[in-house]
Amino acid sequence: DDTRISASLKSGHLREDLEPSGGYKPAAAAAETAEAKGEGKVLVCARCHSLRHYGRVKHPDAERLLPDFDFVAAVGPRLASPSGARSLVLLLADASDFDGSFPRAVARLVAAAGEAHRADWKHGAPANLPRALLVVTKLDLLPTPSLSPTMCTRGRTPRARAGAGSDLRLAGVHLVSAARGWGVRDLLEHVRELSGTRGNVWAVGARNVGKSTLLNAIARCSGIVGRPTLTEAPVPGTTLDVIKLDGVLGAQAKLFDTPGLLHGHQLTSRLTSEEMKLVQVRKEMSPRTYRIKTGQSIHIGGLVRLDVEELTVGSIYVTVWASPLVPLHMGKTENSAALMKEHFGLQLQPPIGQERVKELGKWVRKQFKVSGNSWDTNSKDIAIAGLGWFGIGLKGEAVLGLWAYDGVDVISRSSLV
Ligand code: GDP
Repeated sequence: DDTRISASLKSGHLREDLEPSGGYKPAAAAAETAEAKGEGKVLVCARCHSLRHYGRVKHPDAERLLPDFDFVAAVGPRLASPSGARSLVLLLADASDFDGSFPRAVARLVAAAGEAHRADWKHGAPANLPRALLVVTKLDLLPTPSLSPTMCTRGRTPRARAGAGSDLRLAGVHLVSAARGWGVRDLLEHVRELSGTRGNVWAVGARNVGKSTLLNAIARCSGIVGRPTLTEAPVPGTTLDVIKLDGVLGAQAKLFDTPGLLHGHQLTSRLTSEEMKLVQVRKEMSPRTYRIKTGQSIHIGGLVRLDVEELTVGSIYVTVWASPLVPLHMGKTENSAALMKEHFGLQLQPPIGQERVKELGKWVRKQFKVSGNSWDTNSKDIAIAGLGWFGIGLKGEAVLGLWAYDGVDVISRSSLV
């Protein structure tokens, strides 16, 4: 329902991005393509149609069935071949959803490749072991006044290691904003230095992490005008291909773009394109803060709910970091069930429509115990993969309940801002 979406876009700045809601119309798509080509009946792949027209697969079933790109199987064997060229993996993570977007499985693969060869190390790491660079994208989304190199790097490396589940050795951490051009040149220079003349560089990231935007910025920075030339697909048999970007790193080193990974634990992976438009953060995040007591709850749209279950103090401060297009609701926890039944999908969007509430699945609770000694600085964040986070400021102790759709990752971490 476009009218409703438009109405909820208070600032109206995303309006131009909204397409008429066409839904999933393979038949119409087929007719359209046939007409355009002046041919008879043609078979149109619904996925291609959706990708072309909406930038993503719209139909929930198609989305669910669309296979994830198996980087481990497709690229893994090429990463640490003893005689092969050295690999450099660019692990991309979104600044506004670091833990949710961090490509854990690939990081584990890189870490494991190093571990496997550790016993053979006599004089340091063998020259052909794969290396990894952590690239934190969309830095411009974090609030500017609190941005400092220390703030940004603090916690990133340990969290990346935690995500990799093993001893991930990072050759460096880069904080970039392809949209603003921040850090792109430094990253390109470092990649060139690490890949040497013959290296293979693999850019890896979850869908929507900003990989295409970054690769285009890198290509522009390297002097290639417009889009980089897409050539061979060096990994045969993959449904969605790995693509070589010619000329970006010089004559011999190769840069490969890999298909965006589907992270089922990111809320965004379950949303329709209309819902995504509400949830995705597009410009610098602005926090919304509440003072809240025991027995009260905060909802972020119809997507998550934070309950204050027990407090050793009168109240705590909860700051919501999420897209401004998603409405918040604060009220008594005892009214939450009624709110979910009557308002989820309607006043509290996304999900858009009450049917979608059922589709998103079971609503489950995770408990967090938080302690702190300041009202002004947040002690902990409770982050919801693909959505944002709650910053908790308190002097004392709190027991909090976080409700979200089953399977969506919810974690607590040291406060980011
Ligand atoms: P991919 O799926 O990883 O290739 O992601 P895209 O490059 O298509 O970007 C996904 C979304 O993030 C798009 O809406 C981009 O406009 C946006 N985006 C990408 N890079 C940046 C950035 O540096 N800053 C901001 N604010 N948005 C970005």
